Formats: sequence, structure tokens, C-alpha cells
Amino acid sequence: MRRAIFPGSFDPLTLGHLDIIERAVALFDELIISIGQNSSKNYMFPLEKRIEFIEKSTAHFDNVRVAYFEGLTVDFCLEQEAQFLLRGLRNPADFEFEKAIAHTNRTLAHKKIETVFLLTSSGKSFISSSIVREIITHGGEYELLVPEAVRVDVPSASRKLH
Ligand code: ADP
Repeated sequence: MRRAIFPGSFDPLTLGHLDIIERAVALFDELIISIGQNSSKNYMFPLEKRIEFIEKSTAHFDNVRVAYFEGLTVDFCLEQEAQFLLRGLRNPADFEFEKAIAHTNRTLAHKKIETVFLLTSSGKSFISSSIVREIITHGGEYELLVPEAVRVDVPSASRKLH
């Protein structure tokens, strides 16, 4: 059984994340989208909402499930008996950052875990959760960058007029 963990904050899930998920389901027998909870981090969306967004957006895949974890990603991988860690690459900056993390995780897992990278489809690489949060905060059209299930109660009055 080839099992992969796709870790992240998913605050919130974006079309960029979904692009990676949709392409990864064909590569693994099981894909666990894993929300890392860091108690010192402030999130825009509570954990329950982030889980709900992902569950609704991936309900049509029978080999995807959602989980959350605290602590080291590598420990969660080993606990779930996942051999692969999936990450998306948007640009060279992601690559530099992810390279160090992948080497570190492989070392910490005593070579039991391989990180697999997928390149974002063109047209989705500019999307990030932080940009989406910024757009939501300022009442912009965040719907353009997120899956259908990610809907936020933003009073229409606070929407900017174009
Ligand atoms: P983290 O805080 O761990 O980066 P994110 O939720 O921001 O959590 O991202 C989770 C994963 O999704 C990371 O591998 C990230 O590179 C990837 N990702 C985020 N946005 C995109 C995108 N637009 N295209 C491809 N991968 C993405």
C-alpha cells in the first residue's frame, strides 16, 4: 500500500492545493491530507472549517482522507505508516525551502520516508493561502482562487466595488 501524507496549513484550501491533490490521487493508493496544527500560530479559519473545506472538495475521491496532527510531520508520517510525503512546488523559492526540509525529514525518518514533489500546473502557481486571506480581509473576490466548497461569510457590504 503506497500511502502519502500531504501536510500543510490549508488556511484555507486553494485551487493550487486542489491541483496537487487531483494529480496525486492517481499516484498513491491512499492520500492523507494532513493539517498541521501549531499552537503558536494564528489561523484565519478554525481547524473544523479547514477540515470541512477539504472534505467537501475531495468527497469524490475514495482514496483521500483528512487528518490533523501536532508536532513533527515526520513523526505523523511514521505513525500513519506513510512512505511518502507530498509537497507542491510553485517557484524556485519553494524549491530552496523545501529542499532543506526534505533532506531533514529523510534524515529524521532514517530514510524511511521519501518526499515527492509535484510542480503546480501553470496558471495556479501564483495562488497561496496567504494571498487568499489578504483578499478575504479586504473584501475582494477570493472565490476566483478557491474551490467551490470554500465559502466565507463576508458581509456583501464590505465587498469592494469594482
Ligand atoms: P505550509 O504552511 O506547510 O506551506 P500550505 O497550506 O501553505 O502549508 O501549503 C501546503 C502545501 O501545498 C505545500 O507543499 C505548498 O507548497 C503547496 N502549495 C500551496 N499553494 C500551492 C499552489 N498554488 N500550487 C502548488 N502547491 C501549492
